Amino acid sequence: MRTIGLIGGMSWESTAIYYRLVNEGVRERAGGLHSARVLLWSFDFDEIARMQTAGDWAGAGAALAGAAHALERGGADVVVLCTNTMHKVADAIAAATDLPFLHLADVTAAAIKAAGCRRPLLLATRYTMEDDFYVGRLRERHGIDAMVPDAEGRTLVHGVIYDELCRGVVRDASRQALLGVVARARSQGADGVILGCTELGMILGQGDCQEPVLDTTALHAAAAVDFALAA
Ligand code: GLU
Repeated sequence: MRTIGLIGGMSWESTAIYYRLVNEGVRERAGGLHSARVLLWSFDFDEIARMQTAGDWAGAGAALAGAAHALERGGADVVVLCTNTMHKVADAIAAATDLPFLHLADVTAAAIKAAGCRRPLLLATRYTMEDDFYVGRLRERHGIDAMVPDAEGRTLVHGVIYDELCRGVVRDASRQALLGVVARARSQGADGVILGCTELGMILGQGDCQEPVLDTTALHAAAAVDFALAA
């Protein structure tokens, strides 16, 4: 079995879910007492969030590249970055290591196609919804035309992520508000929901929506397990 290198802590709430899911995935597939071989580099999210707010993406990229390099030296066989947002600096990370990098937008794109969605709604941080590194990659590499919420919806989703979910707070009122964003998008033609932030599975799931829900955390963890068990 190969060793999964996780770059996490952004936030640790979702990294804990990754850790559980990769272990559950290996147990289901390999049986018995098997569990995942994992190396975890976990950031203090406050340091990363400050760089995000300041627009210091070069600094953040350098920090994450250092983590990837450390995972490689530690014996990881693959790099899994446990946040959609920080894929904004995926190139800096990939350049710092010879290890394969499981890009979350590519993993998600495969699931969108398998679900038959043509115009999925992307729920994510403001960075992921408004910059082109994610939506552009879905479009250019995979031919997927993702929709994002309007300005009011984007502010709401971003606030729920940073002010609540990344702090371990899950409120029913926020779930209802997010479902309002989904309903508006549905009336505009959305036919799927991408939980494009690794904490969103804490508050929304398939049981809340009539269209396919693509949970990037679960998809990414499953891809990591596939990679780990492929050798
Ligand atoms: N975990 C989140 C994501 O998937 C947001 C936190 C971050 O900025 O990394 O985008």
